[in-house]
Amino acid sequence: MTNKDLAEIMYPNVTKTIEDYEKMYPERDLAEGAIVSRFAPSPTGFVHMGSLLTAFIERKFPKDTNGVFYLRIEDTDQKRSVENGIQGIIDDLANFDITIDEGVVSENQEKGAYGPYIQTKRKEIYETFAKYLVENDYAYPCFCSADDIESIRTMQEKHKHRIGYYGKFAKCRNMSNEERIERIKNGEPYVLRIKSTGDFNKKITINDCVRGKIDYPENDIDHVLIKSDGIPVYHFAHVVDDHLMRTTHVMRGEEWFPSTPLHIELFKKFGFKVPKYAHLGLVMKIDEDGSRRKLSKRKDPEAAVSFYHEKGIPTEAVKLYLTTIANTNFEAWYDQNKDKTIDDFKLEFKKISASGTLFDLDKLINISKNYMSRLKAAEVYEGAVSWAEEFDKDFYDLLIKYKEYATEVFNVEREQKKPRKDFAMYSEIKQSVWYMFKELFDGSTYTEEVSADSMAIIKDYFANYYNEEDLKDEWYNKLKLIAEKYGYAKEVKEYKENPDNYKGHVGDICEMIRYAVTSLHQTPDLYEIERILGKEEINRRLSLLEAR
Ligand code: GLU
Repeated sequence: MTNKDLAEIMYPNVTKTIEDYEKMYPERDLAEGAIVSRFAPSPTGFVHMGSLLTAFIERKFPKDTNGVFYLRIEDTDQKRSVENGIQGIIDDLANFDITIDEGVVSENQEKGAYGPYIQTKRKEIYETFAKYLVENDYAYPCFCSADDIESIRTMQEKHKHRIGYYGKFAKCRNMSNEERIERIKNGEPYVLRIKSTGDFNKKITINDCVRGKIDYPENDIDHVLIKSDGIPVYHFAHVVDDHLMRTTHVMRGEEWFPSTPLHIELFKKFGFKVPKYAHLGLVMKIDEDGSRRKLSKRKDPEAAVSFYHEKGIPTEAVKLYLTTIANTNFEAWYDQNKDKTIDDFKLEFKKISASGTLFDLDKLINISKNYMSRLKAAEVYEGAVSWAEEFDKDFYDLLIKYKEYATEVFNVEREQKKPRKDFAMYSEIKQSVWYMFKELFDGSTYTEEVSADSMAIIKDYFANYYNEEDLKDEWYNKLKLIAEKYGYAKEVKEYKENPDNYKGHVGDICEMIRYAVTSLHQTPDLYEIERILGKEEINRRLSLLEAR
């Protein structure tokens, strides 16, 4: 009995050949240097920060090189699949502007000529490729039960052999085709294993785009390629899919690095060109005790992408942070090119940290603060409205009611060389500007005593000096006048030279007024605040202050 006979018995329904598929999925017609890469998650329903970074990098290279980015769903492991698990991933990616050129675009829709892009829909393809391996003696059916595998392992441990199903330990490797066929006909369950021809004592050089050249032992383990239920494992599906989908660069987590010799062996057995590999390090976090660990979905709220949405951290700021950790030179580049965007920056494999990245939420927040300080007031308004609509209905109503007014508030100390950096997320805006809205100001925040003398100054100022029409210089001159009238120095300098001659200086007058109109000691530009609040509202506040 030949291998062909065996292959026929194992895969009687296969009608196509690898050549047929090669024709169906031809080489892509792309310019030299164009990168084709993919994001290939299990349908777990969501993306976490680590995989978002991977997806971001996988999307960015094709964008930089006029290539193709596609989404493939790897649903061969039922344990990692959840119901409607695809849509959540698509939504998370969309929220971070990770657009899909090709592949799965919704729970039951895909686009592109290289599909199906969901692995469980590719059974016929996998079987065709498996049949080829069997025909060529590159793979064989293995009938070992879990107990058989366990006893091989126990024996290997006892005799201090390397653990695994390989060489002389691979019981089914040299079985005759007669016996194989007989057992298959008897309905015995079996898996398909690669018949590895690698030599563990020889090294293969893996040329990783991120890590450089690394020598690694060849694979000699007869790994399972297809499980007894006919579902392929990652190793096999990866080789078939990334070949047929014409992936040029496989970017994936470093946990796959040790399996790369097996993947290369499979590519070679098929006679396919091996794609380029880029193994990305883990996203880590430093614990309070200084130790490093993997950013964890369970322990770290910031690992969930929903965190950013709920806090109202702008997507663009998260993307800036992702680019910062993706490429070590981005931060300096962006500092020098503030008017440019991430699209103007080209990612480089060599600038990806091979040892993984530290996730630093404080840094992300700082980036967001800078980013938000550079937005136009109208953009802040839009962002605040869409955040508040979902998370703070009262504030949303206020923003809608006072569109122009709120935009003016957001504009205070914004259009200037060093704009204010009051907030890093939309959820912080209300607590930063609440006192500018009369609905939120009921006088209960006046908790400090204001002396009768101060009250007299404040009242005199608003009754007889303050004029809404005043330009800033005039406004300030009036403060000086009133300072002088009540025995305060017009300049801080004068006061410092002769402190005994004065009750204080013009700055103290400002403070009294600031407190009277806002109940706060620290606010942005007082002139702007008075102007925006308007006389009527200021008078209401003075009455509240007096009535206490
Ligand atoms: N489904 C694999 C994972 O989630 C994908 C690895 C790859 O990108 O090849 O780890």
